[in-house]
Amino acid sequence: MVKRTKIKQLLASAPGVEVLAKGWVRTKRGNKQIKFIALNDGSTINNIQVVADTAVIDEDTLRRVTTGASLAVRGQLVESVGSGQAVEIQASEIEVLGECDPMRFPLQKKDTTLEYLRSVAHMRLRTNTFGAVLRIRNAMAFAIHKFFNEKGFVYLHTPLITESDAEGAGDMFQVTTLDLKNIPLDKKGNVDFSKDFFGKKTSLTVSGQLEGELGATAVGEIYTFGPTFRAENSNTPRHLAEFWMIEPEMAFYDIVDDMELAEEFVKYLVQYALDNCMDDLRFLNDKYDDGLIERMQSVLGIPFQRVTYTEAVEILEKAIADGVKFEYPVHWGTDFQSEHERYLVEKYFRKPVILIDFPKDIKAFYMKQNEDGKTVAAMDCLVPGIGEIIGGSEREASLEKLEARIDELGMSRKNLEWYIDTRRYGSVPHSGFGLGFERLLLFVTGMSNIRDVIPFPRTPKNAEF
Ligand code: ATP
Ligand code: MN
Repeated sequence: MVKRTKIKQLLASAPGVEVLAKGWVRTKRGNKQIKFIALNDGSTINNIQVVADTAVIDEDTLRRVTTGASLAVRGQLVESVGSGQAVEIQASEIEVLGECDPMRFPLQKKDTTLEYLRSVAHMRLRTNTFGAVLRIRNAMAFAIHKFFNEKGFVYLHTPLITESDAEGAGDMFQVTTLDLKNIPLDKKGNVDFSKDFFGKKTSLTVSGQLEGELGATAVGEIYTFGPTFRAENSNTPRHLAEFWMIEPEMAFYDIVDDMELAEEFVKYLVQYALDNCMDDLRFLNDKYDDGLIERMQSVLGIPFQRVTYTEAVEILEKAIADGVKFEYPVHWGTDFQSEHERYLVEKYFRKPVILIDFPKDIKAFYMKQNEDGKTVAAMDCLVPGIGEIIGGSEREASLEKLEARIDELGMSRKNLEWYIDTRRYGSVPHSGFGLGFERLLLFVTGMSNIRDVIPFPRTPKNAEF
């Protein structure tokens, strides 16, 4: 019995062998004598052409071969006379595994806008577009583990449920088993969390960093790679309520080492995509974004531009004076909006930018305080088309300064004692950053909405499927 071969492998095989292919019908065309079926099994963006002679395959079977139906096809792999493919299958037997009613199938030729596809997200994975996105997503996840593994980093699993609000990185989703119709109250009338599952108020994590620092100050270099949750009500094409983040954390790294790692990491991933996903990249490049491959290549050969926040403010202020219009104002002390980031990257420097030394008041408490008393050793990495994809910093290693900053911000030291212990016992200079996995995917797929680079997006008012 001939075993099934995946289509990716069939397309690279020499003709003259008996084969068995399985997959879903993309299209069927032809005439009375002969039908051409494009079959896809998800192993590649490319279809294999199945040639069905009506003298060999019965009429009833061919009638049931419709777009979306699943088939098992046996036949001879032969040289293809048509253009576009080297080989095709001359079918000797077709079995329809699952029919697909063409009148009811949600993926019709006429309506394939990305917006429509989001409304049928349970089926959109069957399209060429989402097949390409899923394969690239998979390749990037693999490359991330490969990169860190080759460097000897330890993959650390940080908790998803946490009682710490990390850093105020974003609003949190509460986790509770309390009966919402009958919430226990304490004497003061506040919710009595001692009755809750963990005996405390708990939430889904907004970042694994603080726990990551515990790992880095134990085994040297770690990274996390897992889901992250932020209940930010920002309905933008760059924000999800549930996204994946990669957070390396390294003992003995200063801010310069941190920037170097971030740059090397981004370049490695872009190169990996170019080396391993070219069929899918070409498809996305042709269909959605004809600058995709060129933009990816353009970040590889050159060093990223490093510039301080203060210099960037001056550049933006000068641009405004010269007539450039932004929706949001810019002055020293405010956080940049994506429009400002993109001006710096796409118009001014025309390459990826790493911004450093941000005002301490717009950054988290744990960042290393600079000598000037005003800024911290933070860095954001910005890429064309997107803006920020990485945010990181050198961490404050001094116990005294860290405690002073926590107090200054009116935060509770009590809940952070476990974290502060890293500075009490064998404190070391250390640094880290967070890469938003879906932001990276926007960059390496050319998709313009973050909802289209994750299989099942979670955004305000949407948790379907
Ligand atoms: P932004 O200003 O774009 O909201 P941030 O400053 O809140 O980002 P960080 O807290 O530094 O982001 O998180 C690290 C990285 O995680 C960001 O650089 C970005 O790539 C990604 N990220 C942050 N929030 C989201 C989100 N809601 N959805 C998807 N990715 C996100
Ligand atoms: Mn944010």
